Amino acid sequence: MIHPVAVIGAGPYGLSSAAHLRARGLPVRVFGEPMVSWRSHMPEGMILKSVPSASNIDAPQRGHDLVDYCDAAGVRRLVTDEDLVSAEVFVRYGDWFQQRLVPALERVRVVSVDRRGTEGFELKLDSGELFTARAVVVASGLSGLEHVPREFAAAAPDGPSPTGPLSHSAQHHDLSRFSGKELIVVGAGQSALETAALAAEAGASVRVVARGRDRVRFGVPPWEQPRLRPATPFGNAWSLYALTYYPHRYRQLPPGLRHYLVKRVLGPLGAWWLRERFEGKVAVREVAAVRRITVAGGAPVVQVGTLGGRREELTADHVVAATGYRVDLAAMPFLGDGLRTRLAASRGTPRLGPGYVSSVPGLYFTGMLGGSSYGPVMRFVCGTEFASPRLAAHLAARHG
Ligand SMILES: Cc1cc2nc3c(=O)[nH]c(=O)nc-3n(C[C@H](O)[C@H](O)[C@H](O)COP(=O)(O)OP(=O)(O)OC[C@H]3O[C@@H](n4cnc5c(N)ncnc54)[C@H](O)[C@@H]3O)c2cc1C
Repeated sequence: MIHPVAVIGAGPYGLSSAAHLRARGLPVRVFGEPMVSWRSHMPEGMILKSVPSASNIDAPQRGHDLVDYCDAAGVRRLVTDEDLVSAEVFVRYGDWFQQRLVPALERVRVVSVDRRGTEGFELKLDSGELFTARAVVVASGLSGLEHVPREFAAAAPDGPSPTGPLSHSAQHHDLSRFSGKELIVVGAGQSALETAALAAEAGASVRVVARGRDRVRFGVPPWEQPRLRPATPFGNAWSLYALTYYPHRYRQLPPGLRHYLVKRVLGPLGAWWLRERFEGKVAVREVAAVRRITVAGGAPVVQVGTLGGRREELTADHVVAATGYRVDLAAMPFLGDGLRTRLAASRGTPRLGPGYVSSVPGLYFTGMLGGSSYGPVMRFVCGTEFASPRLAAHLAARHG
């Protein structure tokens, strides 16, 4: 019996990895909801921060870039750094990519993965099916990794929820629910600033609370980028060039530096085009820290330490924690105990070798799950260009 390779995830990384594996002639089964993070867990009306040339899902053959989709769909070509890509167009691009290159996608969840003797891995699907895979690629992306700081927990003892006092930004697609309401958005990254601008445009009264060393800042427009520094999808800078085009060296950096860079490089910073939609429409409160969020009379109370060292309470109808995502193997319940105990990890993230393989032969991680080994580029769609061909080549050489 020839066992297939299982790919868990149908976002940009899962689709790109699967397309590369199929092109190498490997039998592949791919699981997940296509582009679900983009379709359901980002706000309606969102625009990508990444420029069109950095928004391609890497494919093994030409003709599958964003601009190819625009031509095929007969929509305006998105090519220059000044062309803005809407999440709506990006989702349709992902669907088009999937239909062409990963047509047999299975829209079911993987409930568990564990070792199966020397044969490979045993997977259980939520359809009830059990099957054996020769290798597994985990591309489960943002799912389940939403981060809400511990200090916020008292406001959501049963977990954050859009209908309670506190939610996570990933829980919102339609921000018109806040029309006429007072909203606090905690965070200073693109997700916080864009959520705030969209909610204000939908009729909410919005305040952004930026913590600690985070300041509300916006990027430099393409025509003002420094010309004597090398161009990258994230702006012109030597440091970004190294991190974008030489991610294989990243694994050799000391662990502390790797974890720091993957968190801090490329953010928090609003996109250049967001500034005019934000300034004057959204209030900003920069504070030393958010100490705690509690609830009084059903509404959230945000206790902050001010920059002047005082304590203050901020109130609103609802708080959105735009506090990002954190890779944590413990938050991936489908990984069986047999695997978890054998996986080499560093601060909760898998330690990967060449070709994105983990310490368990045949088990691969890609996308942001590979960030602490391959750097911040793995947090973005353009990282598929580096990751997918290498992962597929490594896997095919050992399990082909
Ligand atoms: C608000 C916001 C804005 C962003 N803007 C940009 C941008 O402008 N440019 C950019 O490059 N990046 C951006 N990003 C980052 C971007 O989301 C990621 O780079 C990209 O989506 C990662 O793709 P992925 O395939 O790894 O994961 P995801 O897109 O999160 O896909 C995960 C997939 O895994 C599947 N899955 C999860 N668990 C299971 C399971 N147990 N069984 C089966 N399937 C499962 C899901 O169904 C889904 O198909 C943004 C992120 C956020 C939150």
